[in-house]
Amino acid sequence: MRRYLIVGSGVAGVSAAQTLRRLDPAGEVTMVSYDPFGYYSRPGLAYYLTNEIGEKQLFPFQEKDWQALKIRRLRAWVSRLHPAEHRLELSDGASLVYDRLLLATGSQALPLGIPGADLEGVVKLDDLADARRILNLCKRARRAIVIGGAITALELVEGLRACRLQVTYLLRGSRYWSGVLDETEARLVERRLAEEGVHILPHTELAAFQGQRGRLTGAVTTTGQHIPCDLAAAAIGIAPRKELAAAAGLRTERGILVNDYLETSAPDIYAAGDVAQIVDPLTGEAALDTLWGPARRSGAAAAQNMAGEAARYLKQVPFNVTRLAGLPVTIIGRVGQGADQDVAGIVRGDSETWRQLPNAIIVEQSYEVNRLRLLVGERALVGAVVMGDQTLSRPIYELVRGGVDLSSCREALFSSPRPAEVIGEFWRSWRAQSET
Ligand SMILES: Cc1cc2nc3c(=O)[nH]c(=O)nc-3n(C[C@H](O)[C@H](O)[C@H](O)COP(=O)(O)OP(=O)(O)OC[C@H]3O[C@@H](n4cnc5c(N)ncnc54)[C@H](O)[C@@H]3O)c2cc1C
Repeated sequence: MRRYLIVGSGVAGVSAAQTLRRLDPAGEVTMVSYDPFGYYSRPGLAYYLTNEIGEKQLFPFQEKDWQALKIRRLRAWVSRLHPAEHRLELSDGASLVYDRLLLATGSQALPLGIPGADLEGVVKLDDLADARRILNLCKRARRAIVIGGAITALELVEGLRACRLQVTYLLRGSRYWSGVLDETEARLVERRLAEEGVHILPHTELAAFQGQRGRLTGAVTTTGQHIPCDLAAAAIGIAPRKELAAAAGLRTERGILVNDYLETSAPDIYAAGDVAQIVDPLTGEAALDTLWGPARRSGAAAAQNMAGEAARYLKQVPFNVTRLAGLPVTIIGRVGQGADQDVAGIVRGDSETWRQLPNAIIVEQSYEVNRLRLLVGERALVGAVVMGDQTLSRPIYELVRGGVDLSSCREALFSSPRPAEVIGEFWRSWRAQSET
């Protein structure tokens, strides 16, 4: 009987456990994680903060689902990995041996390395414990600041506004999420935030937090401006939790390096999810995907290989459905020019890829809050930002993913006053043809 060990109870670890159970019903599967809450939706934390969903709804599994899975679950911190002995060491000194190991340790928020960051009232949003802490602090806090330029920061802004706090949002640059959104999209989001009563401060960087008796009372910017606040939430990027692997001598870069089969540099050890840095067939480079969907798929693929199948994992075109200032937004494929760590999975086409596509052209259609930005390459669509009306998100995703040749509609796309209709029509006829 094969012994499988999984470190991490996030979506990558759980989808691996499900796949292992299916492929090897007799195998012994153990899952270790130090998170007291086990498996829950991390994307759902944003909606939990705004009180749109309750805590129960964060949990995809009920007890009966765990029982059906028939795995052993341990709550423990894994402190060391001994690849040569096929053994893990837990913080209480106990050992676990394995035949096949999956590292699905995820990623965590980068710390804000400024004085006072350890004061009570300075928070991040990584896990359910953080979300609970924020909601607790909101009961007596009145003024909050939020630091960070991408999705999680905005989710914090919205969560704190929903708790009726006065919120000041600090942006290091001139506008929101400049690595992904263009000027118009960013201003659209900022305008909506302002309408919700959020005070935005561009070109603002923090130098230190200030406090009294261990509690946050304010922040000071690099230009000496004092901002009183009793809650400060930071989301300045994320870092894969690769320490365990790195300390054991496995090959790592930003994450744990894996090949197409999710194998690390050590025999019988695999990595999946946010922590795995996987070769991207589009660029030939090893990139991170820090999104729920890819974490689920890579966990399942790693498990197939652990169980003895030869399953290549191919990265897919990024497809990120999110909500910015109340507006549904889908980001598809290659957009943006920055390499903000918080969006590593989204802006896979960062400046380098962008430079490889000098002929990409932007087609825009804008009316009220519905906006579509198509990035059109020489032959095919390379990406899109769909704001508001989401009718075209899936069709555009299919066209980008399939690298579908747009030659027959390219001219119309650029000359028509309604490019959205042109692309919709093109997709309908392309799909009809591919179905025949
Ligand atoms: C606030 C927030 C919003 C998000 N929104 C979106 C979204 O809208 N769309 C989207 O696609 N993605 C979103 N994401 C990202 C998405 O949640 C992640 O990509 C996904 O959860 C990664 O899953 P994972 O299994 O790789 O890692 P994780 O879910 O991070 O799980 C890692 C596990 O490893 C355990 N662990 C780590 N180190 C150790 C150790 N040494 N010993 C024991 N256990 C250990 C942890 O306890 C945890 O159980 C969001 C994330 C956050 C935090």
